[in-house]
Amino acid sequence: MTDNIFDLVVLGGGSGGYAAALRAAELGSRAVIIEQDLLGGTCLHRGCVPTKALLHTAEVADSVRHAAAVGVNATLDGIDAGAALEWRRALVSGKHRGLSSLVKARGIEVVFGRGTLTSVDGKPAVAVGGDRYVGSDVVIATGASSRSIPGIDFSERVLDSEAALALETVPARVAVLGGGVIGVEFASAWRSLGADVTIIEALDHLIANEDPSSRTALEKAYQRRGIALELGARVTGVSEDASGVSVAIERNGSATTIEADAVLVAVGRGPNTSNLGLEEAGIALERGFVTTDEALRTTAAHVWAVGDIVPGPQLAHRSFRHGIFVAEMIAGRMPAPLDDGLFPRVTYSTPEIASIGLTEPQAREKHGEIVVTQEVSLAGNAKSEIVSAGSPVRAGSVKVVALKDGPIVGVHLVGDRVGELITEGQLAVAWEARADDLAPLIHAHPSQSEALGEAFLALAGSPLHTM
Ligand code: NAD
Repeated sequence: MTDNIFDLVVLGGGSGGYAAALRAAELGSRAVIIEQDLLGGTCLHRGCVPTKALLHTAEVADSVRHAAAVGVNATLDGIDAGAALEWRRALVSGKHRGLSSLVKARGIEVVFGRGTLTSVDGKPAVAVGGDRYVGSDVVIATGASSRSIPGIDFSERVLDSEAALALETVPARVAVLGGGVIGVEFASAWRSLGADVTIIEALDHLIANEDPSSRTALEKAYQRRGIALELGARVTGVSEDASGVSVAIERNGSATTIEADAVLVAVGRGPNTSNLGLEEAGIALERGFVTTDEALRTTAAHVWAVGDIVPGPQLAHRSFRHGIFVAEMIAGRMPAPLDDGLFPRVTYSTPEIASIGLTEPQAREKHGEIVVTQEVSLAGNAKSEIVSAGSPVRAGSVKVVALKDGPIVGVHLVGDRVGELITEGQLAVAWEARADDLAPLIHAHPSQSEALGEAFLALAGSPLHTM
């Protein structure tokens, strides 16, 4: 048994883990990352990055379909899913090389192997094979994995998002179980790539956590795109044979069967906290998630938790923030407190959905009658009309939720490319800006951001283009 002594030992080299190590190294600590697979984790290899690339392939296919609307003669001769996969793999491997070089350049050691938490002379440590990595502090950053529904097992046709990303063909008929973020993103991509898609969602709406105006707009857009929706539907069984998969569902007491070539199970992701020695080390868990205080300290001294294993929204950028925050806490800095309500949310479907802060119902529940809202359609926005030319999806909208004569508490966007606009919404909500603070700011013309500017003007009592 060899003991290696570090200031910081990080278990898991995904978004949360490597962010903690990078910041710790910047602050002068000697850090080691223990990783069982590849630096970059789910987000880089099996999640955010390759899914957005798949969605870009889908967007390009749609652009070709709609090219005639803008005077370009082009026909879509088909989708080369194998070539698209190769491109995604090359993209991911380039980013992986970049990340590995950055980690090395910061002097961070990386140990490949499966680590488990232990302790050495009262100090927290991670054991990997016969070696122990002892830290003044340890950060657990082991992420999350796809869950399934009891009775439904993954197979060649019943896929989680990782298996779906690795497909070398586009299935002709797909059933998507779960209308959350993963379900609607894959449904969007596959539909644009030519598949018949049905989403089966137990709740009455897609992306149930979003503002009602956003989820209704997405549902209408999906219906126009020919994506079938089975909302309020319960899956009662999945059976498979050589020719395909049958998904039995029940809705309002009536039973139906959906035939598909592949099923994507996207019913949530559970924390990776089993068999890591966490409970033995005195770390409290609740439903598998690690219990922490507001500063992400676990119940074991000098052991911290970051990212998807901490209850709250599972977002790569939340993991990055957690990693930076913990490294700064350990270094004795006073980082700004974390607030789960201030992480922007982007669903990269067509149309995109982006939001920050409170939905209108949440704001009304918290603040009562003083809540005011302003919705501006992107139909009157020249740039939006240009970038969406030929699309069957109706123009989206910008919705701002504010307190009467008070701060903006939520921003909700629907439309092509609106994910890029949410940063302005974040600044407004995080800085507790009031509409009349923002109304004098000029937005470039023509830009989609003008719709936000118009909403601020209207809320401040001086609309220019709206009534
Ligand atoms: P989710 O929790 O967002 O959605 C799962 C959906 O499945 C819910 O709407 C739920 O009602 C439904 N569901 C659960 N059991 C069901 C059943 N038996 N039958 C039918 N529907 C059922 O989970 P997800 O979409 O799997 O995503 C996992 C996590 O990853 C989420 O936290 C998500 O925010 C995150 N993520 C984020 C992004 C992004 O930010 N763009 C992309 C991918 C994933």
